[in-house]
Amino acid sequence: MGFAYDDSNIFAKILRGEIPNDTVAENDQALAFRDISPKTPTHVLVIPKGAYVSFDDFSANASDAEIAGFMRLCAQVVASEGVGLEAGKGFRAITNAGEHGVQEVPHFHLHIMGGRMMGPMVSLRD
Ligand code: AMP
Repeated sequence: MGFAYDDSNIFAKILRGEIPNDTVAENDQALAFRDISPKTPTHVLVIPKGAYVSFDDFSANASDAEIAGFMRLCAQVVASEGVGLEAGKGFRAITNAGEHGVQEVPHFHLHIMGGRMMGPMVSLRD
């Protein structure tokens, strides 16, 4: 059984141009834009343009070109935000999946967060 994608989610609306976004970078396969509620000085979301629900959906089912385009855009964002290890002080890349991962938007996205010291890797809740 495949992953059921709901195209009424907010990132699908962004990709269709129905709601605005603060674009950081884009290529044929992926879009990077600023999180509307940033938790760190750099907080960019990178999403594939294809309809994938989560990391496990994308990594299993996306084409090689989609995966390469997505990852290259992540590298571009890390560099342009100045948080990479060549020029900056580092960052954290997070993806939440499903109920236990506490994923709010059911379109795969990677959070690229940096510009300050991060806290513990996870904060658990019951
Ligand atoms: P997650 O819990 O991993 O699904 O994270 C969803 C993220 O999307 C949150 O950090 C929200 O602040 C962010 N978000 C929700 N709506 C928008 C939007 N319209 N533009 C940019 N970021 C958004």
